[in-house]
Amino acid sequence: MTFEDLKFEPELAEGLDAMGFKKPTPIQQQAIPVIMENKDLIACAQTGTGKTAAFVLPTINKIIQAQTDQTYALIIVPTRELAIQIDEAIQGFAYFAPVSCIAIFGGNNGISFEQEKKALSQGANIIIATPGRLIAHLNMGYVKFDHVKHLILDEADRMLDMGFSDDLNKIISFLPKQRQTLLFSATMPPKIRDLAKKILVEPEQINISISKPAAGVTQGAYVVYDAQKPALLKNLLNEHKGLASIIVFCSRKEAVKNLERELKRSGYNVAAIHSDLEQEERNETLRNFKNKTLQIMVATDIMSRGIDVDSIGLVVNYDVPNDAEDYVHRVGRTARAETKGTALTFINPEGQFKFGKIEELIEAVVNKLPVPAELGETPEYNPKKRIGQIPGKKPFNHGQKRAGGGGHKGGGNKGGGYKGNNPKGGGYKGNNPKGPRPEGGNNNGGGGQAPTPPTA
Ligand code: AMP
Repeated sequence: MTFEDLKFEPELAEGLDAMGFKKPTPIQQQAIPVIMENKDLIACAQTGTGKTAAFVLPTINKIIQAQTDQTYALIIVPTRELAIQIDEAIQGFAYFAPVSCIAIFGGNNGISFEQEKKALSQGANIIIATPGRLIAHLNMGYVKFDHVKHLILDEADRMLDMGFSDDLNKIISFLPKQRQTLLFSATMPPKIRDLAKKILVEPEQINISISKPAAGVTQGAYVVYDAQKPALLKNLLNEHKGLASIIVFCSRKEAVKNLERELKRSGYNVAAIHSDLEQEERNETLRNFKNKTLQIMVATDIMSRGIDVDSIGLVVNYDVPNDAEDYVHRVGRTARAETKGTALTFINPEGQFKFGKIEELIEAVVNKLPVPAELGETPEYNPKKRIGQIPGKKPFNHGQKRAGGGGHKGGGNKGGGYKGNNPKGGGYKGNNPKGPRPEGGNNNGGGGQAPTPPTA
């Protein structure tokens, strides 16, 4: 199947062509025809599969056909970063089309709120919003959703995890009953099925989710003690110093802050991103990371989902994520579309059990790599044994020398993910043929989006 087969309106086809998209990914092949037929859809797909374009392209196509000034589609997402990213994607695809969109998200100052209010009162064709912020506007009474024909929930599992269930119900109560509803989720736990039952009508179902990292990711792990992590990380950063973009994930924001400090002290080009920062600081860090002036970003899981940065060569999990699915999302930051990347995880004794669960989920055994001798002896690897607190300061288990394998036989990856032919390894912005959007172009202007940085 090619994009021509999907018979998009010429303005959209031109945008797609300009962005170098040739062939729809599997999720796009399956979802777009269903969405074009106005059916409800529940799609299990993780980031990296091309899911954004799967719902954005048919939505833009419908708006071109409807020739409307009204708010026609509402996209609800869990995080600001995802809202900005989808907004940017829409701006790229709809570059030649008379389609307006706005991203509405929390954490901004009063000026942005006023800008959002103005854009919402005037009507933007597509609104992309985080739940809390949208409700703040809805409560003020000027948002008109009478003409909304399409509701899209992206990363629905994450939204429920973040406690947005009531907010979602409230938002939905403002929408016309006659509408198309699309639900995208990386996982399908029972609570997502329940939500789908409530808000979807006879939905089609698509399952692209593989809960496995994309095939281009080389995975490895180091079995270590916490005290060995900083030195090991610096070794790896030095080894990979030629890479333009590296992400280091920690589960807690305190750890992110400490690590940023430690790496800065050692002279690395590093910045942190976590929920304690102001939105503008987060935007700036992300911008610098995207345009490659910032090499190393240390982040909490807030960044692990949905964020689309080109060519991240290395992802380091400084600790094992609590949720096995988060591993897939973190690792999914590298090897986007069909590029290659490396994902390395530091497994401390408390993380071994969790890592065992991750290996079960991805149905692969991840290579345990040898820790440099100068870092000392490493713990024994036993993922079956659940360890709570490691007693006292006793640092070594003398049963085993450095990690070198722990009896595992290397890690094949049976993962799927998008293997299409994007020559640039994905990335909406860099491909925009005409550079910055002209004045008075098709973005409504509010929403405080991050300016588009140049792509290196
Ligand atoms: P997503 O899963 O929506 O986050 O998309 C992952 C990456 O794949 C993004 O960088 C997209 O620009 C890229 N992508 C999505 N669809 C296609 C396609 N049909 N051809 C080439 N690249 C694509």
